[in-house]
Amino acid sequence: MDTTKAKKCRCGHDLDPHQMVLVIQSPLPAGVMVCPVQDCACWSTWGMNPDGRPSTPEQAAATRRLVVDALRINQN
Ligand SMILES: [Zn+2]
Ligand SMILES: [Zn+2]
Repeated sequence: MDTTKAKKCRCGHDLDPHQMVLVIQSPLPAGVMVCPVQDCACWSTWGMNPDGRPSTPEQAAATRRLVVDALRINQN
């Protein structure tokens, strides 16, 4: 049986229950995606282009920097 409809995260768990946490609103909505499975340390950043296009690697890197910075500020 092959039900490959459910997308898998790179951590190996189903992608669906992952929670998208909004961290910044500008210049683009972006945040972190965390796995709901206990003891799973998976987290990755996500970013949204206004036109729905996937981010380029450069944009993804910039988003990651912004999100990590924002998280660091929030923790202080
Ligand atoms: Zn996981
Ligand atoms: Zn995951």
